[in-house]
Amino acid sequence: MGSGIIVDGKIYSGSNYCAGEMGHTVIVFNGRHCSCGRDGCWECYSSATGLILSTKEAMLAHPDKESPIWKLVDGNLDHVSGRTAFDAMRAGDPVGKKIVDEYIAYLGCGLANCVNTLQPDILCVGGGICNEGETLLAPVREYVDREQYGGAKVRTKICKAQLGNDAGIIGAALLGK
Ligand SMILES: [Zn+2]
Repeated sequence: MGSGIIVDGKIYSGSNYCAGEMGHTVIVFNGRHCSCGRDGCWECYSSATGLILSTKEAMLAHPDKESPIWKLVDGNLDHVSGRTAFDAMRAGDPVGKKIVDEYIAYLGCGLANCVNTLQPDILCVGGGICNEGETLLAPVREYVDREQYGGAKVRTKICKAQLGNDAGIIGAALLGK
């Protein structure tokens, strides 16, 4: 789960070019082990990989193969994707709804941390999961409004990144140029 900070039109890179790695700030103390070496990083819960792991864990805890969420993957956990929980929720599956609600809280928690640290004008959320659009972003905004310091009076705009999954590669090319 990558992130970057833009200040006055320029990338803020810190003292050693690693600033802005919000995905590796901890949101669950002693939580899931992260590839960076820490435990409980935001990335472990709010990346697509994290969502897929949460989905599999919830399905194993609710192994009813006749439920909508299990039918969506033909009873095979290898078929779980970042969409599975959302599709299950839309099909009326309570396990899918619970996974999505938790995912929204994890995403909102990390975004509220960003707001409380930087109070940016805008947070652009990218990646494949953003294809869920307002299904995801509307409740995330409500969460951040509730959690941010000082209340919702000074609002950071939270929106879908226009370049979606291509943001990283386009950004890298422009940086090279
Ligand atoms: Zn990490």
